[in-house]
Amino acid sequence: MTAQLIDGTALSKTLRTDVATRAAALSARGQQPGLAVVLVGENPASEVYVRNKVKACLDNGLHSVFDRFPSTLTESELLARIDDLNNDPNVHGILVQLPLPKHIDSHKVIEAISPAKDVDGFSLENAGALMTGKPLFRPCTPYGIMKMFEAHGIALEGANAVVIGRSNIVGKPMAMLLIEAGATVTVANSKTRNLATHTRAADIVVVATGRRNMLTADMVKPGATVIDVGMNRNDQGKLCGDVDFAGVKEVAGFITPVPGGVGPMTITMLLVNTIEAAERAMLQDSGAA
Ligand code: NDP
Repeated sequence: MTAQLIDGTALSKTLRTDVATRAAALSARGQQPGLAVVLVGENPASEVYVRNKVKACLDNGLHSVFDRFPSTLTESELLARIDDLNNDPNVHGILVQLPLPKHIDSHKVIEAISPAKDVDGFSLENAGALMTGKPLFRPCTPYGIMKMFEAHGIALEGANAVVIGRSNIVGKPMAMLLIEAGATVTVANSKTRNLATHTRAADIVVVATGRRNMLTADMVKPGATVIDVGMNRNDQGKLCGDVDFAGVKEVAGFITPVPGGVGPMTITMLLVNTIEAAERAMLQDSGAA
């Protein structure tokens, strides 16, 4: 059996058309949606991510404020800039690219972002809202994966799902969204014993570890859906995921490629969250008028 490919690039294109339509509608009413992206320091990978995010905004009718600071920026200077952005009515979403330099407390910075503009959904308030089933913003990577399930009609209610990885930005929010959708969820980590016994019983496996070839064909139930979040480099320096794609695609029912799977969806969902923030702000303004 050869799995059906879940094409994140193609799905992103469709979703971005909707983003552009909603951005145009907001702009026509005098409120172009805006995303502020803040980068501190000279991390080359962060540089690429940030440029892609800014470009995606501009390509789809959002405006983007790109704040680029040297690694010498102090924590209080960064907090002051976030305060300005919180109070800027033309900025609906604020994204601080992680990791931050060591002298800056990321937790403090994330908490300084107004929850209504926290389009990454990483703040305590947004994480709590997600946990109680009333999310304001869904973290972009798991949100994009939920859209992939939806687009391919992959049933979640009653499904056995295994999420490999328990980070705050991928594993945990992914588990929350799957629980909310009625799946029976197991969250694995580096200490999990007999991982394969869990994955072999799963209808859905989401792998987010940052370790190449961590999920192999013998660990997958025939027909299962396999989502690869990982972003690694292989021996030739090419981008690859956490899944042994060549082997697993012969067993799985659906599979995401790397590149062209979860990656483009993550940026797309950042745009969607920014649009949602701008639409909410517009509703509030019209309610207040
Ligand atoms: P973290 O390093 O924060 O978390 C990795 C998780 O994987 C940890 O919970 C760790 O367990 C678990 N893990 C590591 N080894 C094993 C193992 N052998 N068995 C089971 N679990 C294991 O990573 P992130 O969640 O931030 O990211 C994961 C990957 O996804 C990375 O490659 C990252 O680059 C990529 N990524 C891709 C995105 C995209 O848009 N495509 C977006 C975000 C991330 P423990 O907690 O016990 O250490």
